Amino acid sequence: MTGNESRVQAIYEITNKEPIEAKESNKLEDIWASHVFSLSKMQASLPKGVFKSLQKTVKTGEKLDHNVADAVAAAMRDWAMSMGAKFYAHVFYPLTGGTAEKHDGFISPQSDGGVISEFSGKLLIQGEPDGSSFPSGGIRDTFEARGYTGWDVTSPAYILENDRGATLCIPTVFVSWTGEALDKKTPLLRSIAVVDKAAKRLLKLLGNNEISSVNSSCGAEQEYFLVDTNFANLRPDLLMAGRTLFGMAPAKDQQFDDHYFGAIPPRVQAYMHDVEETLYKLGIPAKTSHNEVAPGQFEIAPVFESANVASDHQQQIMTTLRDTAKAHGFICLLHEKPFAGINGSGKHVNWSIGNSTQGNLLDPGDTPEENLQFLAFCAAVIRGVHMYGPLMRAVIATASNDHRLGANEAPPAIMSVYLGSQLEDIFNQIKDGKLTGSSHRGEMNLGVDVLPPLAKDAGDRNRTSPFAFTGNRFEFRAVGSSQSVSGPLIALNTMMADSLGWISDQLESKLGDRKAGPEEVGQLIQPILKDIMDKHGAAVFGGNGYSEEWHKEAVEQRGLLNIPTTADSLPYLKDPIIKTLFESTGVLSPIELESRFEVYAEQYVLSIEVEAKLVADMAKTLIYPAVMRHLSEVAGTVANLSDIGVSVDKAQVEEIASLAKTMFDGANELLAAIAKHDFGSTEEHMNYCAGTIRDMMNKVRDAADTLEGEIADDLWPLPTYEEMLFIK
Ligand code: ADP
Ligand code: MG
Repeated sequence: MTGNESRVQAIYEITNKEPIEAKESNKLEDIWASHVFSLSKMQASLPKGVFKSLQKTVKTGEKLDHNVADAVAAAMRDWAMSMGAKFYAHVFYPLTGGTAEKHDGFISPQSDGGVISEFSGKLLIQGEPDGSSFPSGGIRDTFEARGYTGWDVTSPAYILENDRGATLCIPTVFVSWTGEALDKKTPLLRSIAVVDKAAKRLLKLLGNNEISSVNSSCGAEQEYFLVDTNFANLRPDLLMAGRTLFGMAPAKDQQFDDHYFGAIPPRVQAYMHDVEETLYKLGIPAKTSHNEVAPGQFEIAPVFESANVASDHQQQIMTTLRDTAKAHGFICLLHEKPFAGINGSGKHVNWSIGNSTQGNLLDPGDTPEENLQFLAFCAAVIRGVHMYGPLMRAVIATASNDHRLGANEAPPAIMSVYLGSQLEDIFNQIKDGKLTGSSHRGEMNLGVDVLPPLAKDAGDRNRTSPFAFTGNRFEFRAVGSSQSVSGPLIALNTMMADSLGWISDQLESKLGDRKAGPEEVGQLIQPILKDIMDKHGAAVFGGNGYSEEWHKEAVEQRGLLNIPTTADSLPYLKDPIIKTLFESTGVLSPIELESRFEVYAEQYVLSIEVEAKLVADMAKTLIYPAVMRHLSEVAGTVANLSDIGVSVDKAQVEEIASLAKTMFDGANELLAAIAKHDFGSTEEHMNYCAGTIRDMMNKVRDAADTLEGEIADDLWPLPTYEEMLFIK
């Protein structure tokens, strides 16, 4: 089939598709968490003592009693087998950002030729996948392949169904034989523990007596695109890179702003329905689904959960979105920028910390004592963003997210924090030291008793800030749609722990051994908050983050860093300040941190080189031949016309021929460029990809996209932007 015939065939098949048969709709109560070995299921099936001990581990992070494991394993196996499972899998989260599974059978052959199913506490607690196929950033050589998975008691086990049966999935950490974390969960759990400890310490100093463990929470809004498989199969770039490497901008895209919250096409509705049913069975509280700004783009957001569970669930959401899409004849694109010139996809990570005794510590609340607390916790965030902004930039740095950040669509590559006008005003007053008088509107006393409650919504929304306060949480808006949320959560929790620790240190040094009443603590904390604003207030910004002026002001007057690409960001992971942060808190050892730099840098370089190879191949084997066919057809026509005395202007033909040459030569140069391997350092290699390679790719693409607008449509080999975005 020539290019056009396959496109016509794809369109025919899409428009004549039988609608997917609607599954019977289940009642939420009937399916909710039906596939999860939840605490309530454990309670029903475990002896009282065992359950109590397990519950304690889950709720307080206390070490798991080994004797408990056997009983839990037996109950878990019985439940899983009653759900049809014959296999179990330790699920872990390697540094690639994906989800990995090591499958094993329950089956245990017996000497009499029969089989029994076996699953002991030992098998539940620990597994040993061959670790050598996962990146470790130099922690292990491949001959030292040993890696261990260890059961994470705080994230529930669940059943994953597919056409061929069901598997019991057990969330685990993944560590090397030498004990270093090779995954994203281990440091996340550590960061959850350190922010818990630091928050409790400050809460105590602030005069609280009963303090339960503090957890961080995350609600992540996930954006994605759907494209019909019939089109995707004709696009090697979509299949292999997850984004279009070629494609002329369509005549119509999102200019009309008619897509956001618009009616969802029936095919997509059916898809979303099935996604939600699957997620409900897995106990994942998917709540909102709607159209996004771009045509073909949608969003799904679960209700927030504790950071660890939310992070595991987020991985399951991405898997479910992709798998369900296949069944519905779609490909689900989680790439940050699948279509040039059209809004990309992000993942807004809503984050807060709190506990059951003091509530959400980032909620302004309505009693004075809580406000004091709130201002201290909020100041800790400000200090964190200012001191560790480059870390926040580094944890969202990927080759694909670079296409969003810095462009006028996604929060910029300069880290700042948006507080909203009311809160910003309060912090400015703290900075001016003017908060000592009695209060009236806009001027308040920080003395505990007289501090009036703040309004719940402390300000408007700001879509241009990478990190915005939204009433009772912060929204990290710059996270990429395909990313694991663990990295960002680790950074937020750890820098928060560091800041809370700093505030506690200050308070303690002022207090000495004395125990002060709330009034005095209120007085003592004022200069500490002022100190934070003096040193770190530069990170607070309420204006337009996309504007030229901000870029200038941020860098020239405020001394903030503008870190445009991943190649610029990742080296900050080696910065002494960041190294100290992770080492002092125990969240990542220097070796573990260094290994992350290596792994992420390698991923960055690899993904750009793979794309570059694809660009060259597609230009040479798909687009160039189509252009030549076009030229040969035109040449014949020109010759025939001149035979009968009609003269034709050849300028257009010459232009096309020249563009084709530019593209073809560019593709060959690109192939030569990615063959280069003699780099002095990883940094040099990254910069080469960020600069030279990306520029060369753009040059080839520019020529190809211009050609798309010049040659006969019936010869064009690739489904167009219009077709992919609008035909469903
Ligand atoms: P919007 O699109 O207006 O930002 P959504 O309702 O789409 O809001 O998403 C907000 C996300 O923030 C949801 O996942 C929600 O559960 C989560 N969220 C709400 N409160 C908190 C909180 N205190 N901590 C963390 N996440 C929260
Ligand atoms: Mg949002």
